Amino acid sequence: MNDAITLAPLPYADNALEPAISDKTISFHYGKHHAGYVKTLNGLIAGSDYEGLSLEAVVCRARERNDAAIFNNAAQVWNHDFYWNSLAPAGKGGEPSAELAAAIDEAFGSLEACKSALADAAVKRFGSGWAWLVARDGRLAVESTSNAETPFGQKGVKPLLVIDVWEHAYYLDWQNARASYVKAVVDGHLDWSAASRRMAT
Ligand code: MN
Repeated sequence: MNDAITLAPLPYADNALEPAISDKTISFHYGKHHAGYVKTLNGLIAGSDYEGLSLEAVVCRARERNDAAIFNNAAQVWNHDFYWNSLAPAGKGGEPSAELAAAIDEAFGSLEACKSALADAAVKRFGSGWAWLVARDGRLAVESTSNAETPFGQKGVKPLLVIDVWEHAYYLDWQNARASYVKAVVDGHLDWSAASRRMAT
């Protein structure tokens, strides 16, 4: 079987995000959902001219060609890799760099206002999707996408952080209380150090 697209390791222990995100949620979300997208994608691209491309190149080509099944699975692999690396254990997420802090102040007025905008987008996303902090044409913005859609690969856009608001991300821990999951993540588990590194590249 083709295994060119791999399941990236989690950057922390399965229980490192508790109680916001339990090890049980991680076991299903990472071990079943994310792993499932990787497996399905490898099956879809085996023997095609996608085989051998990087994940990023698969996402971009599938978007160009409107290959929906490949795009959905590849974008979901990318989004989940990015999600795990947008989160950090409590107290380990650092602070925005001077560069990022200045961009946050310019776009939102304050870090608290930025967090509120991100939480609002996450809570209001109808159905399954994602809430993002991005740099779009050099200015920070909060956006949300539906299902597998992703700002990755869009011209002029640099994703900085993401929150998964598919029900599988929170239902075992929070049931229907999406806002409580979002608050726990935004208040305690965003990786501002990672966002700062992304801002600088
Ligand atoms: Mn997910």
